[in-house]
Amino acid sequence: MGIRNIIAGNWKMNGLGAHRREAHAIAEAASGLSSKIVLCPPATLVAALAADALGTALDIGGQDCAVKASGAHTGDISAEMLADAGARWVIVGHSERRADHGEIDATVRAKAEAAARAGLRAILCVGEVLAIREAGDAERFVADQLAASLPDDVNGLAVAYEPVWAIGTGRVAQVADIAAMHARLRAALDSRGAAGTPILYGGSVKPDNAAEILATPDVNGVLVGGASLKAADFTKIMAAAG
Ligand code: PEP
Repeated sequence: MGIRNIIAGNWKMNGLGAHRREAHAIAEAASGLSSKIVLCPPATLVAALAADALGTALDIGGQDCAVKASGAHTGDISAEMLADAGARWVIVGHSERRADHGEIDATVRAKAEAAARAGLRAILCVGEVLAIREAGDAERFVADQLAASLPDDVNGLAVAYEPVWAIGTGRVAQVADIAAMHARLRAALDSRGAAGTPILYGGSVKPDNAAEILATPDVNGVLVGGASLKAADFTKIMAAAG
C-alpha cells in the first residue's frame, strides 16, 4: 500500500469565532475519506476547533511552535501547549515564517524536534523563491534546505514542497516541475532512511487543479492556504483526494 494522502489546510492569520462553522463542515466531509484531513487554524482557535473535532476524522494543527517547551518567551506558543490544546500536528518552516520572522533551517529543524518531543506530527515546509527557480537552481536549493531542516527522528514527519512564488499568487508550478522536485525529495528522504515520509505539494492548490496535482508521482497530499478558508472549496479538494 502507498503512502496515505494528507490534505492539510492552513488558515494563516485568518479566522474568528464565526469560522468554526467552516471547520464543522470540513469535519463532516472528512468522515469516510481514506486521506488524512488536517486543519491548521490560528492559535486562538486551536483549542475550540480541536474540541469540536473530537470524535470526527478531522485533525487540528498549529501553524508554528516555539523551540522551547516553556519559559520567558513572550508571545510564543510551545508544541506542548498546542498538544495540550488538542492539536495533533504543527506546520514548521512555512516560507512566511522564514521570511517574516527570519527563521533559518536550524530553527526549523529545532522546531520539528520540538514537535516530536510534544508528540505532534510536523509538516516541514521547504521551497524556493522565483529567482532561484529562474536561475535553474531550484532542485539543488530545496534539497539542501531539506537536508539542513530535517530532524534525525523523522517518525511522523511530513514534508511540504511549497515554491514561494506559487503561494497565494494563483500561480501553480508545472506538473513536470512538481514531479521532478518530489522525485528529488523522495530520493533524499530514502537516503536518510525516511522512505515512508509523505511529501505534500503546496502553492495555489484549488478545487480545479487538485486532482491533477494529487495524481502527480511522489505527491502524497497537498497543503492548502486560501482555498482552505471556505469549506465549500476545501471539501472539493478533499473529495479529489478521496
Ligand atoms: C500555504 O499557505 O501554505 C499555501 C500554499 O497558500 P495558498 O494555497 O493560498 O497558495
